[in-house]
Amino acid sequence: MMSKIQEIYTRIKESSDAFLGYPLAKDFSYSQFAPFLDVCINNVGDPEASSTLSIDTKELEQGCIEFFAEMLSTSIDNVWGYVTNGGTEGNLYGLYLARECFPEAVVYYSESTHYSVKKNLHLLNMRNIVVRSQDNGEIDYQDLEQILTIHRDKPAVFFLNIGTTMTEAVDDLDRIKEIIRKYAIKDYYIHCDAAFLGTIAPFVTPKPKFDFAEGVDSIAISGHKFMGGPIPCGIVMCKRAHRNRIANSISYVGTLDTTITGSRNGLTPLFLWAFLEKHGMEGLKKRVENSQQLAKYTEEKLNELGGNAWRNKEALTVVFDKPSEAICEKYQLASENDIAHIICVPGLEKERIDAFLMDLEQEIREHNTAALEVMA
Ligand SMILES: *Cc1c(COP(=O)(O)O)cnc(C)c1O
Repeated sequence: MMSKIQEIYTRIKESSDAFLGYPLAKDFSYSQFAPFLDVCINNVGDPEASSTLSIDTKELEQGCIEFFAEMLSTSIDNVWGYVTNGGTEGNLYGLYLARECFPEAVVYYSESTHYSVKKNLHLLNMRNIVVRSQDNGEIDYQDLEQILTIHRDKPAVFFLNIGTTMTEAVDDLDRIKEIIRKYAIKDYYIHCDAAFLGTIAPFVTPKPKFDFAEGVDSIAISGHKFMGGPIPCGIVMCKRAHRNRIANSISYVGTLDTTITGSRNGLTPLFLWAFLEKHGMEGLKKRVENSQQLAKYTEEKLNELGGNAWRNKEALTVVFDKPSEAICEKYQLASENDIAHIICVPGLEKERIDAFLMDLEQEIREHNTAALEVMA
């Protein structure tokens, strides 16, 4: 490797092993697919329509969508989806479908929503209102009700968080449905942003309500987060009727223009498919259980050190008082205001958590000694 490239690889490898604050699984290896790096691959157009250009992995992409349909309590007869470039594209797509259903709609979402959603709404030029969040990151239902009473004559799009970025909070679909009934809102659309929790929530007991069995219209999931991989990717799924509403046939590529981008990544469906083949539903369930155990351990140990740690129910995200900048930097902890978090992803070794805990303990001890000296 050229030395510049070698340097970059070394930096990425070290950082990738060290970070504790990001929701990206680390336990993957796709080097067996290296031969695919030397050929043209492109999944251009609709994943179900073959293209005139036969250099795609759509068969595997379809396999992934079928797996996710089952995981999300439905079948491929009722829903449609494709492999995206990540959660952001999936959320953009869900909002796009919502706007095509109800051009006059108002979009409601909580202040804990991922930063990219504001931009998506701007791109789509949709009316939107930010709803307050509770302390745990969940949407404030009372605030939502108050806002809705003013706009009850308009169609409503509920953009729900199934796992917020900072605290992994889940908006309660039952409470949202109650509000819809209470105000007799006739025209509504529900999109679930399950970027991180999409492949986790189905295996948590009790299972958070967010899937097609609950009547949601679309769901976005990130592929490079809990499943993991070297290239950002994701899945978006929607009721088939929504996709049919926007389908336009394009003769140049001989396929339907149902996706956001034209040319699409053919490698990521291959990686996702290999992951699902290897792990299946049972494997995903085990991954979730292992990660939950590590999160519980981390929370307990942090509290022994007086770190004020807490988790939303069974979350893999452990929230605690923000430590010094030096520790945040060393362990690449994401922080917001005065809280930080560690996300217990697959591939994160317990030894890494223990090393972090030792550094934190040391810092607390030095801090206490300094405080005693000041008093003396
Ligand atoms: C990560 C994340 C996103 C964005 O997903 P990308 O795959 O990074 O585009 C959106 N929403 C939530 C809740 C997320 O955690």
